[in-house]
Amino acid sequence: LVIPDWSKFCKEIENIYKHCKTISDGKVASYIPQLARLDPNSWGVAICSVDGQCASWGDDQKPFCIQSVANVFSYSLAASELGGEYVHKYVGQEPSGRLHDAIFLDSHGKPHNPIINSGAILVSSMIQHQKDLADRYDYVLNRFKKVAGNDFIGFNNSVYLSEREKADRNLALSYFMKENKCFPNKISDLTEVLDFYYQLCSIEANCESLAVMAATLANGGVCPITEERCFGSRACRDVLTLMNSCGMYDYSGQFSFHVGLPAKSSASGVIMIVIPNLLGIVLWSPPLDEQRNSARGIKFCQKLIERFNFHNYDSL
Ligand code: GLN
Repeated sequence: LVIPDWSKFCKEIENIYKHCKTISDGKVASYIPQLARLDPNSWGVAICSVDGQCASWGDDQKPFCIQSVANVFSYSLAASELGGEYVHKYVGQEPSGRLHDAIFLDSHGKPHNPIINSGAILVSSMIQHQKDLADRYDYVLNRFKKVAGNDFIGFNNSVYLSEREKADRNLALSYFMKENKCFPNKISDLTEVLDFYYQLCSIEANCESLAVMAATLANGGVCPITEERCFGSRACRDVLTLMNSCGMYDYSGQFSFHVGLPAKSSASGVIMIVIPNLLGIVLWSPPLDEQRNSARGIKFCQKLIERFNFHNYDSL
């Protein structure tokens, strides 16, 4: 077992969970009404080890949209299938240093990385692009379910409809990319590209199921529950590297400095953390701090690193 005294470890995680429950900082995202209506008191934590030991606390089964955490998995999927070299002909590996939805490309005219909006829209346009939208949606949903070891994966249609309604920024970004010839495949209709991207953002998970997905990444692409290979190990290495430098919006550098673990956060208040070869961790609490990361989630990470030597360079 990678964590021999599991119940002792769980007790420690539970203490951090309880400590963070008392925090009431932050504001729930409000760019669409469905997010604004999220209960600020929701607080769930789940862990899953690379050998399949799982535990969870609080609102661990309440569904939430994974929003931009989906970017991590669409990239992993695209890179596993098309090869990282092909994907990175069209998208970089650099933190953008700007807001996640800034209308801005790198000096080669490519999106900075695959886990900000521009890069994620581009990468999702590559997935099974020759198929029609319904088949592509089914394909991704089924693939995500495998990554989650057949645990809960859902879809929130009202979030999808709202995202579509509030599409101006992402549409502007997409036109800007089209103008700069960023897309590898012929794009006849940008609304179709965005519809697919919004569908991926509107996929639901809960803390438990997303922790399994995180553990699949921690395990080099093999789901620890079903032992099925979901992503190539190279794609996993690459996505974790990107999460490490670009996963936490404008806090990515500080997170990497203080916590030293690959992570991705999103507008629904989820933070997914991967400890390679050890553990997936999911923290979900909707109120966001100034950098748009879950306020309770960030506190949890600080406490985790105070208590355990999980920082990438703690071994020095
Ligand atoms: N669907 C959102 C968007 O495209 C994603 C928000 C997020 O989680 N960063 O703006």
